[in-house]
Amino acid sequence: MKRPKFQTLTGTHDVLPEDQPYFQKVFKTVEDIADYYGFQKIDTPIIEEADLFLKGVGLDTDIVEKQTYSFRTKGGDLVALRPELTSPIARSYIEHGMHNLPQPVKLWYFGPCFRYERPQTGRYRQFNQFGFEVLGEKNPVIDNQIIQMSLDVLKELRFKNLSIELNSIGDSECRPYFKKILAGYFRSRKNAMCPDCKRRLKENPLRILDCKEEKCQRIKVNAPQIIDHLCEGCHSHFKQVLESLDELEMPYNLNPYLVRGLDYYTKTVFEIIENTEEGKLQGALMAGGRYDNLVKILGGKDAPGCGVAGGVERIVNLIKGRPGKIAKPPEAKIFLAQLGLLAKRKCLKLFEEFRKANIRVAESFSKDSLKTQLRNADKMGIRYVLILGQKEALEDAIVLKDMETGTQTILKLKNVVKEIKKKIGKR
Ligand code: AMP
Repeated sequence: MKRPKFQTLTGTHDVLPEDQPYFQKVFKTVEDIADYYGFQKIDTPIIEEADLFLKGVGLDTDIVEKQTYSFRTKGGDLVALRPELTSPIARSYIEHGMHNLPQPVKLWYFGPCFRYERPQTGRYRQFNQFGFEVLGEKNPVIDNQIIQMSLDVLKELRFKNLSIELNSIGDSECRPYFKKILAGYFRSRKNAMCPDCKRRLKENPLRILDCKEEKCQRIKVNAPQIIDHLCEGCHSHFKQVLESLDELEMPYNLNPYLVRGLDYYTKTVFEIIENTEEGKLQGALMAGGRYDNLVKILGGKDAPGCGVAGGVERIVNLIKGRPGKIAKPPEAKIFLAQLGLLAKRKCLKLFEEFRKANIRVAESFSKDSLKTQLRNADKMGIRYVLILGQKEALEDAIVLKDMETGTQTILKLKNVVKEIKKKIGKR
């Protein structure tokens, strides 16, 4: 086939009608769980001041360094397509004085994000994220609640083999000190590291722990672990999170290499993956943690936060094709066929009456041949066909054909909705 002149841009994709039920299923699941936990929905613009992400996500993160779609507007402002929603939500919390509301403020979202990444399995340039954010509460029970909600979403979507990777990355009290210890360890092994990590050594040695290069992986095995260097506050916070996870019987893996790509995280960080070959290929389904400094970094009053973001496409890629019912839209029980111009016009009106009566009706109004219309009704497996012919249109009548028995009855047009209601047992 000849290549069409216009195609989706690399890393972007259409969500075609056949995939919509999966996206809707994820949306509905997230919405129900958010609602149950008392979270309110928030939508923020897709476009924001680029500086929001420089300050929020962090200058030396991959996301801001390489992946942000940013550009100057005609007015000269530097703006960016959002690569994530936590910073925009923190911005909104500050902008709308949400610290004056009863705390914590619990919000959820669902919408597109943009990252200029190298497209691969589970990695797109435009993708949808959903998430839960709790602002204004530092109690570790929130960390547990966020993890619990994340698992709820995935379990509700019939994921079974899930694994939670967990770590604490400390806070502004203990992390700078740990970074120095870590830098000391890596400095003496610098020559054996990849060029990216050599640079990370200067900018943020924590990110070396995240490196996927074989030679860096070998070095990091013996690197000091932040868990052993947490300050009193971070240590007791993490202990409480782990104890509650034990209480809830949620199995987890302590992962000293989990540092997350975003700068704003403090204390608890976690990722949830599906422990199957397919799942590992997609990567983390949900990821989150605590961000106690973000609101302050963005110029607000000190307000702690904790949240999680999930990748809709990764989840859909995995649930598609697996057994389990995805709700289909209700199917029509009636087909409305017509013959002639006057009948066509009357059918448009009748169709609207059926809609108001909440009865789903199928049609092929653009077709003139009755044979074609009956064939369509048959293909859809519809038992009752209403036929409005030229004669009936003049007499304000309509024919009801039962496709199963072949019987035909004539009804008065003004009674047809009532009669059909009786036939299909609708009150
Ligand atoms: P992050 O904001 O990087 O913590 O990502 C949160 C979640 O969004 C991840 O666990 C993924 O499920 C999803 N995600 C992140 N980046 C992408 C991407 N480029 N394409 C598809 N999903 C993504």
